Amino acid sequence: MNKLLLLCLTAIVLWAQEYGLEPVRVTPGLYCFFGALKSPNTKNNGNMVNSCWLDAGSGWIVFDSGPTRLYAKESHETMQRIKRMPLLAVFNSHVHDDHWLGNGFYREKGVPIYGSGAFKNHEKLDDSRMKSAIAPAFFKGTVPVPPDHIVTHSKHMKIGGLELEVIVFNEPAHSQSDLALFVPDKGVLLAGDLVFNDRLPSLRDGSLKGWRKAVKRLRTLHWRTAVGGHGYKTGADALDFIDAYLAKLQQKIEKALEEDIDMTQIATYAAMPEYGHMAMYDLLHGKNVIKAYEELEWESE
Ligand SMILES: [Zn+2]
Repeated sequence: MNKLLLLCLTAIVLWAQEYGLEPVRVTPGLYCFFGALKSPNTKNNGNMVNSCWLDAGSGWIVFDSGPTRLYAKESHETMQRIKRMPLLAVFNSHVHDDHWLGNGFYREKGVPIYGSGAFKNHEKLDDSRMKSAIAPAFFKGTVPVPPDHIVTHSKHMKIGGLELEVIVFNEPAHSQSDLALFVPDKGVLLAGDLVFNDRLPSLRDGSLKGWRKAVKRLRTLHWRTAVGGHGYKTGADALDFIDAYLAKLQQKIEKALEEDIDMTQIATYAAMPEYGHMAMYDLLHGKNVIKAYEELEWESE
């Protein structure tokens, strides 16, 4: 390519500072932005998370506001082009920063923001991971704004024309408290990071047993479409990977404890080459093993 042309294109991209977000119509009245299957970096600039928009008739309900103010602004502009209507509510599934640092944009617009119980300790929350991982131009203007409505118990809500079941897990599961949204009329489940597929999950801030319990609960709801916080599967098989991975992890660790495998041997013992081809296996599986081992060893004493 002509050098001058390349230079111009680079300049346009730098100047534009856009994610190029493209919503996918997952089912009637539900649009989602699906992120890369990676950690935040200067290529994806935090667009490695899923966020969704529900058409509630008289306005939009946003599920997870994304990693930056710019992301929130761009998704808002994109969705207004699909259907121009007001914003009724924003939900934050949990405190991991890729899911809620876009809140500032919605707060400026006066939209009520609902979040899981762990946001009660919002002064302890930290936006430094995202800030240090992505390009400053993309993080610019991002302010950590916690939800103004903390949902401490599961409840029914009616927003616009939609009946919602807000389901809160107050025991550690993927994180210390996770929130999911079930829309019975649409058969839609928005699960946040309780559901991963197409890439390995992170158990760092949660509990293996608690997470399995939460997934079991989600299975009892009558959804036809389920969108997780990461990954692209949204049909009947959307929960299969997380279910199987966590079950196998528990089995392996329990067997290791029976056989007196110690901490120094556990990573090798509990390798799961059957998942080796999946995104983020190398980065996360070993850490998940250690976390699960600590949890189950503690219980077995
Ligand atoms: Zn998370």
